[in-house]
Amino acid sequence: MQNKNILISGAGIAGVTLAYWLQRHGFAPTIVEQAPRLREGGYMIDFAGVGYDVAERMGIIPDLAARQIEFDEMTFVDRDNRSLGAINTRKVRSLLGDRAFEILRSDLADVIYRRLDSGTEFIFGATITEIAQHGSGCSVTLSNGVVREFDLVVGADGLHSNVRRLAFGPEKNFEKYYGYYACSYTFPKIFTDVRPFSNYTIPGRQMMVYEPAPDKMVVLMVFTSREKLVYDHRDTARQKQIVREVYGEIGWRCPEILAQMDSTSDFYFDPVSQIAMDHWSEGRVTLAGDACDCPSLLSGQGSTLAMVGAYMLAGELKAASGDYVQAFREYEQLFKPFIGEKQKLAQSFASSFLPQSRLGLWLRNTFANAVLSGFFSGWFIRKYMTDKLKLKDY
Ligand SMILES: Cc1cc2nc3c(=O)[nH]c(=O)nc-3n(C[C@H](O)[C@H](O)[C@H](O)COP(=O)(O)OP(=O)(O)OC[C@H]3O[C@@H](n4cnc5c(N)ncnc54)[C@H](O)[C@@H]3O)c2cc1C
Repeated sequence: MQNKNILISGAGIAGVTLAYWLQRHGFAPTIVEQAPRLREGGYMIDFAGVGYDVAERMGIIPDLAARQIEFDEMTFVDRDNRSLGAINTRKVRSLLGDRAFEILRSDLADVIYRRLDSGTEFIFGATITEIAQHGSGCSVTLSNGVVREFDLVVGADGLHSNVRRLAFGPEKNFEKYYGYYACSYTFPKIFTDVRPFSNYTIPGRQMMVYEPAPDKMVVLMVFTSREKLVYDHRDTARQKQIVREVYGEIGWRCPEILAQMDSTSDFYFDPVSQIAMDHWSEGRVTLAGDACDCPSLLSGQGSTLAMVGAYMLAGELKAASGDYVQAFREYEQLFKPFIGEKQKLAQSFASSFLPQSRLGLWLRNTFANAVLSGFFSGWFIRKYMTDKLKLKDY
């Protein structure tokens, strides 16, 4: 086996999954993560599809089941908190063969992280500032001033990937914005009369609230913005001000929820965008997860697909005995067409994702349950929520 010494940027879903499989295949991964520790809290994800198969091969299904957030339904509510309809989430899960979870993104990463052993080195609180490729490897400079040698570097550092910027160029060359912003944060359980999973929507603005634990609530807001907003990504005060401007006057429990924003520790605010690239590798550097193929929250599958990509990348490196030219080529040939279809599917939802009129809202509230858990559900779930990809055995 050659090229065993591999640096991964990012301890998200793609990063820890890649480290897991590299370790199992006899490589020596190191993860550099900019956060001081594994990120906690955050939003809930639907976890199903072929990523579930990867999780099964990792033996982590019981751990995921123990952390899943179970709901019977998601209820659409009006500004007076009355029910306008619901999606039967239990039925959706059963149509997926009960091979599906709702789980916090951070819990999924943590479950995988706990399966890593001393074969994976972690460097928290640092980032890569320079990658210099040479004949036999990469000299990598870290933000803590340390310069280290690695055989290969993988950017698994998300939508705003640092490795992608260093090796391929600025984000604007690859980002496709889809007209929405998302904001999410955790706060203490302050309501007793809000249903466990509520969705309050007015045209162009949606607010979902759910309970990941008996004492906690999480809000996920998605709103329409035709143009990309101008703000500094480090300026959370400005981002919170934008959220207040968009949600301040819309009623329901928004004032109380917005009042929790300043005391939260996991504020998230970002555009809904995809990443599209012609190729994912430059010499000894490649990308995984959202960094190269972000399908966006419109797909509802980014995490599971990040796991599949990481599984394939590690597997192809093993199959090629560490020959990165062959492995990176195979990884792209196998996975890129599949993820490309997923991105297209997500794009087809972009214009209808959030109702923009009262009529659209009424149609959504009236028919959402019929489509997802009623008469058409089998067809819908086969078409949009299941994957035909069969995993290779490595
Ligand atoms: C609101 C929302 C809802 C979603 N819902 C779903 C869903 O229902 N189902 C689903 O499957 N997916 C969902 N997704 C998508 C999913 O969260 C992502 O696709 C998935 O997290 C991608 O994993 P990743 O490891 O590639 O990136 P990330 O999870 O973003 O992880 C990247 C990691 O890299 C680190 N990092 C960033 N920059 C640097 C740097 N410079 N140096 C070092 N480390 C760095 C970050 O701190 C982070 O730990 C949703 C996304 C959003 C935003």
